[in-house]
Amino acid sequence: MTRIQHHIPDDVLDTYRTGTLPHAFAVVVAAHLSLCDECRARAEAQDMLGGALLDRTEGAALAPGARDRLMAALDTSPPPPPPQRGSGVFPAPVMAELGGQPPRWRMLGGGIRQQILTSDQDGSLRLLYIPPGKAVPEHGHRGLELTLVLQGSFSDSEGAFHRGDVETAHDAIDHQPVAGSGAPCICLAATNAPLRFQALVPRLLQPIFRI
Ligand code: ZN
Ligand code: ZN
Repeated sequence: MTRIQHHIPDDVLDTYRTGTLPHAFAVVVAAHLSLCDECRARAEAQDMLGGALLDRTEGAALAPGARDRLMAALDTSPPPPPPQRGSGVFPAPVMAELGGQPPRWRMLGGGIRQQILTSDQDGSLRLLYIPPGKAVPEHGHRGLELTLVLQGSFSDSEGAFHRGDVETAHDAIDHQPVAGSGAPCICLAATNAPLRFQALVPRLLQPIFRI
């Protein structure tokens, strides 16, 4: 496996550790952590630092209830996922979303397939299957989009992304991901707002496919 080049941004990892990251994004982070020693070490180091700071506030003048709230926040931190290696395309957190079953793909056109795993007002999570050399229609973002590569690769204006890499896209980024040659690209993507498609046809299909 090529070394992971694109990681979870600090602010997203912080929010994940406090247990307040919406579920769709939390699954992407958990799946990345299961593949990435570097981010897992970062998360553990931050947890230890948090614990040390808390020890030092022992007996200090915290506002009434503040320490309890802090402890409660720490208690809700999701446990780090167990390290998982070489057990197929789908890491454990993704397998859990799939209910242990293989994906049930729905055709999107152009050979691209998707399965929506979860969707609520805080975000939606989907698996995408892009045949080698095929492109996802060019689009922009109204919110945050985190895309984790599980198989194959894709590239766009931000660079090339291989298994384990995460692309973080937001309002400022318009892109047209194109799958690399070789194995079909399978990605896990979380978004918290509908995408902005430049072309008419994908715009018309948006309500149908909930993208
Ligand atoms: Zn990482
Ligand atoms: Zn995007």
